[in-house]
Amino acid sequence: MSTDAVSTGSTGSTGSTGAPRFDPLAHPPGDAELEGRVIALTGASDGIGRAVALECAQRRASVILLGRNVKKLEAAHGQIEALGGEASIALLDLERAVAKDYEELADAVIARHGRLDGLVHCASLLGTLTPIEHYDVPTWCRVMHVNVTAAFVLTQVLLPALKLSSDASVIFSSSGVGRRARAYWGAYAVSKFAIEGLSQVLSSELDTLTHVRVNALNPGRARTMMRRQAYPAEALESLPLPETLTGPYITLLGPKARGVTGGSFDCQPAP
Ligand code: NAP
Repeated sequence: MSTDAVSTGSTGSTGSTGAPRFDPLAHPPGDAELEGRVIALTGASDGIGRAVALECAQRRASVILLGRNVKKLEAAHGQIEALGGEASIALLDLERAVAKDYEELADAVIARHGRLDGLVHCASLLGTLTPIEHYDVPTWCRVMHVNVTAAFVLTQVLLPALKLSSDASVIFSSSGVGRRARAYWGAYAVSKFAIEGLSQVLSSELDTLTHVRVNALNPGRARTMMRRQAYPAEALESLPLPETLTGPYITLLGPKARGVTGGSFDCQPAP
C-alpha cells in the first residue's frame, strides 16, 4: 500500500459549493478505508487507473474494472485476486460505446451490487502536442469525446446507482494543464479544463440534494504511457510510480472525505 507524505501541495479549494478546505494528502487512508464499498474505475487497465484500482481492492473495496483491453483488464483482475481482493471486469470502449452499452453497464451494477459508492474517471487520451492553428480536427474530436463526453455520459448513467449509496464519491482525474493553459497541449488541455468545469457543475447540482460528492484530482506527473508519449526524452526514473500517488484517490473515495465536494485537489505538492 502506498504511503503519503503530508504536504500542503493540494489546491484544497473551497470549491464552487463552498466546501470546507480539505487536503486529502493530510488524511492518509487506513488499511480498511474502503471496507464494503463498491468502486468503478475507468482506465483500470493501465497507469494511474490500474494502480488506484489495485489500491481500492487492497483497502477492501469491491472493484469494477472498466476498460477496452480484455488482456490488460484480466491481468489487473488477476493481481487483485492474488491479493485476496474482489473485482469484476466490464468492457467499455469510451470511443465507441453507444447508449445501449452504457445502459447495460448501469443495469449490471445495480443487479450485482444494488448501488455504487465510487466512480473514478482515469481513462484519457493525450492526442498530439500541436499548435491550435494546426491541430488535426478528428484528433481533437476523439480526445474531447473520450476525455469529456464519455466521462459525462458514464457519470450520468451511473448517477441513479450512486444515489442509492449512503456516501458516494465521484472523482474526475484532472491535470495541471487543465488549470493553467500551456501552449501546444491542444485538445488535452482543453478537455481537462472541461473536466474541472463538469466536476464543479455536477457538484453544485448534487450538493445538499444527495449523498453524492464530486471532486477533481490532479495526479501530477507519473511514470505512465501517457507521460512517455508527452515527454519521450524524459528520464523515466525521475518520475513517481503510479502506485505512490494513489493515497488522495483513496481518501476522497472514503469516509474521511464525507461532505467534501466541489474541490480541486492534487496528489503531489506543487513543484
Ligand atoms: P495511461 O497510462 O496512458 O492510461 C490511460 C488509460 O486510459 C488506459 O487504461 C487506457 O486504456 C484508457 N483509455 C484510453 N482510451 C480509452 C478508450 N477509448 N476506452 C477506454 N479506455 C481508454 O494514462 P495515465 O498517465 O495513467 O493517466 C491517468 C489519468 O491521469 C488521465 O486522466 C490523465 O489525464 C491524468 N494525468 C496523468 C499524468 C501523468 O503524468 N501520467 C499527469 C496529469 C494527469 P488502454 O489500456 O486500453 O489503452
